[in-house]
Amino acid sequence: MAEKKQHTYVSADTNKPTSKPKAKKTTTTPSGKTAKEAAPVGNATAFRVAAVGLWIVAIVCEILAVLLFTGKLNWTFMNTLTLIIILLVVDLACVIAGAQFWKKANHIDPASEKNPLKFWLWNNMGVIVCAFAFIPFIIFALTDKNADKQTKTIAVIAAAVALLIGGAAGIDYHPVSQEQKQEAMSVLGDEQVYWTTFGKVYHTHDDCQALNNSDALTYGNVEQAIAAHRTRLCAFCAKRDDITGVATDKAVDEIGEIVQDAVDDAA
Ligand SMILES: [Zn+2]
Repeated sequence: MAEKKQHTYVSADTNKPTSKPKAKKTTTTPSGKTAKEAAPVGNATAFRVAAVGLWIVAIVCEILAVLLFTGKLNWTFMNTLTLIIILLVVDLACVIAGAQFWKKANHIDPASEKNPLKFWLWNNMGVIVCAFAFIPFIIFALTDKNADKQTKTIAVIAAAVALLIGGAAGIDYHPVSQEQKQEAMSVLGDEQVYWTTFGKVYHTHDDCQALNNSDALTYGNVEQAIAAHRTRLCAFCAKRDDITGVATDKAVDEIGEIVQDAVDDAA
């Protein structure tokens, strides 16, 4: 039997290293309310306002880039193509930063699945804004008759690359719905959960087999885990605690079954 992995612990409340926390298992209430309030996970509205503000800056940069490209605006203090590239870079930075704030807000205050259009829009807003932030520029650049070929090629390639990077960064790879979050909170209540720096799931046990290679663990309640973008419960932990009804990690589930098959074969 391998030696048990020793972890270091970071509290989600304070973001500071602590000693091994006492496992906290409280009885859950149907409302999902907990007796002791953990540190608030953040203000979703503030994150959304920040996102929208950054996105407005992004679109303004794009408009300026279009005006410069088409010659409607003439800034002589710098080479026009250089200026356009700078504007596209600022545009991209704002698109990406805005999308991170937006995703954070979605994990604190998720949209309900009951409204499929809003749910889709809320979870894909980062990608949609990215499309608006670069595709019009690309169309204007491609259809401009006056620009020289080289300028056109460089500007279009720059905008296309920005579109791809911004789109990839804008995707929420682990979206969560209001129902999913409520379900997880009502099942797990204030129970302590753990997650790793790069892991995609949260665990109910710090000695979970999936954590054998992880050194630092952050611990908090499930609401904090979801706000930290760990939207699903580890399939090993779910099986161990016989937890159903909480979104689990399918990929881990499959690995779990493969491992189980290997164990069965060996027996
Ligand atoms: Zn686990």
